[in-house]
Amino acid sequence: MEEKALLKVENLYKYFPLKTSLLFSKNNAFVHAVDGISFDIFPGETLGLVGESGCGKSTAGRTILQLYRPTSGHVYFDGTDLTQASGQKLRFMRRNMQMIFQDPYASLNPRMTVREIIGEPMEIHKTYEGTALIKRVQELLQLVGLNPDFINRYPHEFSGGQRQRIGIARALAVEPKLIICDEPISALDVSIQAQVVNLLVDLQKQMELTYLFIAHDLSMVRHISDRIAVMYLGIIVEVADQDELCENPLHPYSQALLSAVPYPDPVLEEKRKRIILEGEIPSPINPPSGCRFHTRCSKAQKICSVERPEFRKISDKHFVACHMVRET
Ligand code: SF4
Repeated sequence: MEEKALLKVENLYKYFPLKTSLLFSKNNAFVHAVDGISFDIFPGETLGLVGESGCGKSTAGRTILQLYRPTSGHVYFDGTDLTQASGQKLRFMRRNMQMIFQDPYASLNPRMTVREIIGEPMEIHKTYEGTALIKRVQELLQLVGLNPDFINRYPHEFSGGQRQRIGIARALAVEPKLIICDEPISALDVSIQAQVVNLLVDLQKQMELTYLFIAHDLSMVRHISDRIAVMYLGIIVEVADQDELCENPLHPYSQALLSAVPYPDPVLEEKRKRIILEGEIPSPINPPSGCRFHTRCSKAQKICSVERPEFRKISDKHFVACHMVRET
C-alpha cells in the first residue's frame, strides 16, 4: 500500500504585487516568488529544500503555513486543504505545524521572559495553564538542553545558539507533527550549527517529527535530510533521495551547488572541481523564458530559452526538470 503524505503541496504559487509610487498608474508587475511547486512530505521524514538566497524557499515555507495566503494552488495537511481553511479551523490545523525561524535574535520578543515566550502557544491553544504550564515550559527547556532555572530570564541573557534552542522549545510547545525549519542555523556560528542540527535530529527521533528543512547550504542539508528538493527562481528543478542527489546530481544547477560543498578529506578536497555560476540570479519580477536557469547554464541549447522543461521522473524517486537529461 502506498504511504500517505503528511503534507502535500500541489501547484503552489505566491506572487507579490509590486508597489508603485505613481498614484494612478496601472501596476501589473508581480514578484514571482513561488511559481508552481509541488511535493509531498511523508510522516517522520525530513525534506531538505535548498537553493540560493532569494530563490523563494522561505516564501514557500510561509505560504505552506498560510502565513502568506497563496496566489493559487493547494496545501494538504493530513488530508485537509489549508488554503480553504480560515478562522478557528486554520488555527486548529496550525497547532500541528510550527516554524523555527532563521534569526534567533529577531524572532524572540526581547520584552518577554522565556516562560512567556515558550508558554504563549500553550496559552493560545489552551493546552496548559497555571503551574502545569510552568512545569511544561521547564520540561521543554530541559528537552532542548537548557537549564530549567532560566525560565524567568530574557532573550538578551542568552547566546545565539541558546536562543535558537528557545525557538525550538517554543515550536515544540504545542506538540506539532510538522516543523518548518527556515534556515535555522544560518545565523549561528559554525561551531554551534552542528549542535543545533544534532538536537533537531534527536528530537525528531524522540517525538516522531516531520521536517521541511530550508537552507542555502547543501553541506548541512545533506546531513539531516532523507530527500532533497533543489529550488531555483521560484521553481523546483530536482528532487531525489539525499544520497542519490549528492552522488548523482542531474540538473546543472544542483551540480553547481554540490560542487561548492567542501570534502572533509584533504585528498578529495584537492581534486574537487568547483563549478562557478556566472552572473546573478535573474529578477523574479520578469523571470527568463523557457528554462529559468538558461541564462546561467553552461549546457544550455536553443530549446532551453524557448520551452520550459517538464518535471520528469528519471528513475525511482529521482525527478528533474532539464531538457538535456534523459530517462535511464
Ligand atoms: Fe541547462 Fe537547458 Fe537543462 Fe535548463 S534545460 S538546466 S538551460 S540544459
